Amino acid sequence: MPIPPKFHCPECGVEMKRRPGGKCPECGVDVREHVRDERDREERIEKVVAVVSTILVLALSLFAGGCSVVEGVLVYAVAGFAVWYWGRGTF
Ligand SMILES: [Zn+2]
Repeated sequence: MPIPPKFHCPECGVEMKRRPGGKCPECGVDVREHVRDERDREERIEKVVAVVSTILVLALSLFAGGCSVVEGVLVYAVAGFAVWYWGRGTF
């Protein structure tokens, strides 16, 4: 997904654009483990999104009796974003 992950400090909740030395720039707490967990979570979501999107596209193209490449890509993009959005709130 093209949207870069955002990391929030687990202690003070500030959004960390930079993490000098793996620490929160606001309160100085060590956030390396937190960032790693967030990255793992993003990867899990992306895997689920890829699988569910593929199933959705296959189901849709079967239902529609096959669609053109452009329609397929469009459906894939829309479904991918929808599932990704849903995944972020669920996992
Ligand atoms: Zn902080």
